[in-house]
Amino acid sequence: MQPVEQLFALQRMDTRLAVLRRSLEVLDPGQSLEALLEQVRAAEQVTAAQLKETQTRLRDLELSLSGTAEKARKIEQELYSGRVGNPKELTAMQEDVAALGRQRQRIEDEMLALMEDTERLAQELGTLEAQRGARERELEDHLTQYRAHTRALEDELAALQVKRDTLAAEITPDVLKRYERLRERKDGLAVAQVLGDGICEGCHVKIPDRLYADLQETDALRTCEECGRILYAPRR
Ligand SMILES: [Zn+2]
Repeated sequence: MQPVEQLFALQRMDTRLAVLRRSLEVLDPGQSLEALLEQVRAAEQVTAAQLKETQTRLRDLELSLSGTAEKARKIEQELYSGRVGNPKELTAMQEDVAALGRQRQRIEDEMLALMEDTERLAQELGTLEAQRGARERELEDHLTQYRAHTRALEDELAALQVKRDTLAAEITPDVLKRYERLRERKDGLAVAQVLGDGICEGCHVKIPDRLYADLQETDALRTCEECGRILYAPRR
């Protein structure tokens, strides 16, 4: 291989390596999906806590409802037993029974509202659980793909890096240094191919015919007068 052919091959490998590194950088490790999953999880926790609270309150109310009923029953028993003859006392007892009845009504009203809440919250929780499951599967699928892509890119990168280093070791150190410096200054492209109509691949300016002819004959490295890149033209 001519030095310029070696440099051109090296350039192609370096360009591909840069593409591979960039592809690895921009692979999405699923952060946005993870954030969405966290949102659903948080909502699910809030709803589950609300449901638990509502159910606890319902149980408390059931207890106080039976307590109230028991109290009223005892007073009524006393009332109808005939043991109390004092009209004032009787009136007081009847008022107590009426008050307990009102209390019972309030408890039952609250229980009814809470039962509706329980039903609604249980339904919401079910929806959120299904959403979380879907999000988890989505994230899992994404991560499987992400890991496969990462591995493929890393494998190609490692294999190409070995080839690249082997080729670089065959190139004269001075030439290699010149190539590396140019690559740094020229946006990663040190060697530009001369395209069909004598156009420099690097700057897209047409190179002089004389230079194009020289490239076909000389082994020396020639550069584009416009952009300074090393020119490579396949021999005809
Ligand atoms: Zn150029």
